[in-house]
Amino acid sequence: MGKLVQLQLSPEEARNDDAIRLRLREQFGLSDATQFVWRKRSIDARKKDIRINAKLELFEKGEEIPPIPTPNYHPNVQNAPEIVIIGAGPAGLFAALRALELGLKPFIYERGQDVRSRRRDLAKLNKESIVNPESNYCFGEGGAGTYSDGKLYTRSKKRGNVQHALETFVFFGADPDILVDAHPHIGTNKLPQVIVAMREQILKSGGEIHFEHKLTDLHVQDGKLYEIELNGKIRKETRALILATGHSARDIFYLLHEKGLRIQSKGFALGVRIEHRQELIDQIQYHGRVNDDFLPPASYSLATQVNERGVYSFCMCPGGIIAPCATEQNEVVTNGWSPSKRNNPYSNSGIVVSILPEDLGNPEDPFVCLNFQKEVEKACWKAAGSTQKVPAQRLIDFLNNVPSESIPRSSYQPGYECLNLNEILPPLIAQRLQKAFRQFGKSMPEFLTNDAVLHAPESRTSSPVQIPRDAESLSHPELPQLFPCGEGAGYAGGIISAAIDGMKCLDAAAHLLESTS
Ligand SMILES: Cc1cc2nc3c(=O)[nH]c(=O)nc-3n(C[C@H](O)[C@H](O)[C@H](O)COP(=O)(O)OP(=O)(O)OC[C@H]3O[C@@H](n4cnc5c(N)ncnc54)[C@H](O)[C@@H]3O)c2cc1C
Repeated sequence: MGKLVQLQLSPEEARNDDAIRLRLREQFGLSDATQFVWRKRSIDARKKDIRINAKLELFEKGEEIPPIPTPNYHPNVQNAPEIVIIGAGPAGLFAALRALELGLKPFIYERGQDVRSRRRDLAKLNKESIVNPESNYCFGEGGAGTYSDGKLYTRSKKRGNVQHALETFVFFGADPDILVDAHPHIGTNKLPQVIVAMREQILKSGGEIHFEHKLTDLHVQDGKLYEIELNGKIRKETRALILATGHSARDIFYLLHEKGLRIQSKGFALGVRIEHRQELIDQIQYHGRVNDDFLPPASYSLATQVNERGVYSFCMCPGGIIAPCATEQNEVVTNGWSPSKRNNPYSNSGIVVSILPEDLGNPEDPFVCLNFQKEVEKACWKAAGSTQKVPAQRLIDFLNNVPSESIPRSSYQPGYECLNLNEILPPLIAQRLQKAFRQFGKSMPEFLTNDAVLHAPESRTSSPVQIPRDAESLSHPELPQLFPCGEGAGYAGGIISAAIDGMKCLDAAAHLLESTS
């Protein structure tokens, strides 16, 4: 390992290797022949003099720079013991890749389409308001992560696992900058290629992926899962099942409940997606440096407490687009994505209120949060005309409790209706949002502008249901062959944490196979 040094650079210096060499010479007396590699990069924009914090690793002239570690996949698992994985989101895909590392054969069943075919369904959703319940922004190859922003930031403290997940993304084609940036990001235009490369690896090594195969039943005998049913007719024997179906697979929650398997309600967050001009966010965050060639489009992170519940920004997308993320026809849901260059003129973010089961009624009812989520999504759908249009309102009009006469512009393609969100969103959400926006305006006064537009609802922030699992075996306490995994089961909140949970569950399932063979 080379020597690590830290530098504070101007944005211009950070993009210029000669300028960095000069700083290394001036500050550390190093010769210009010294090689350097970026190890961490973050932006400090608290003051007008914006700084780039750089952590660099130094190597002597001619010294070999270690390559980025690559995963080691078994070349042929065709006849190896099988592990069945439901869902090809980040949790399911990383579980499958981990199986290849361990020399096991992954069988993935995915209800949606491959990334390419999925794109056609997204076009129909955006242009014709047609929701395909099996193929949309949440369902299909790559899961909810494929057409997302691809932010790879996680609060997970398990650095080794995070690093391995990031290196895996790089191995499959992501920009190596994601290993360096404090807030790494891939972009919707690049994620599908990465997902396809993962699929090709799984197939090349002898694993299997079956699209348009939906898990519809579990067959249990004497407390043991021995077989699953797909599409209501196909049967597949299994000794270990990784259930990585994401937070929108409501039918899976209902299925487990019907089977008498314990599930429980889980707090989540719900609110609106706000859109500003990106120029305004740059102006605020970069002290007037707008459209700067040396700085990426600015983001923000806001959080406050209102009446004992957190209200915070969620999945902020600089230079992004608001996407219709419903999974059924009679609901509307918003979320956001951005391309790798983040070069759209809009910036959007969820502003959401934390909700606990006890806020909504009987916390023992496993569906108390899910039902609330459904009711809000349906109410918004109905209010805006029963298409994929969403109710929208300018921010100051929302604070003044009057519907907007018009909306300046919106990146949300299916359209909107000008409505008063105070009358559509439940008071426990609307009232907290009102107070929170006023508080955000104290630290960022320009944020409170009537040019900002709220779109409702932002409701799929995390799973409203938790599928319990044993802390050690990671399997369901009542069904040892079932491994609830990823965001849908309540153990992840984003691409990287879902990927890490997928690998973890695979290890646990492999342990079960080994101990029972
Ligand atoms: C528009 C958008 C933008 C986002 N942006 C980001 C971001 O920038 N960064 C970030 O970290 N996170 C982001 N997220 C969230 C992120 O995508 C999820 O946290 C992550 O994908 C969860 O991974 P998962 O594998 O647990 O579940 P999912 O990705 O939801 O995958 C579950 C998969 O299971 C399949 N499935 C469901 N039911 C069945 C069944 N019965 N049978 C077979 N298959 C089934 C689904 O089709 C899906 O492919 C975004 C989400 C969306 C929708």
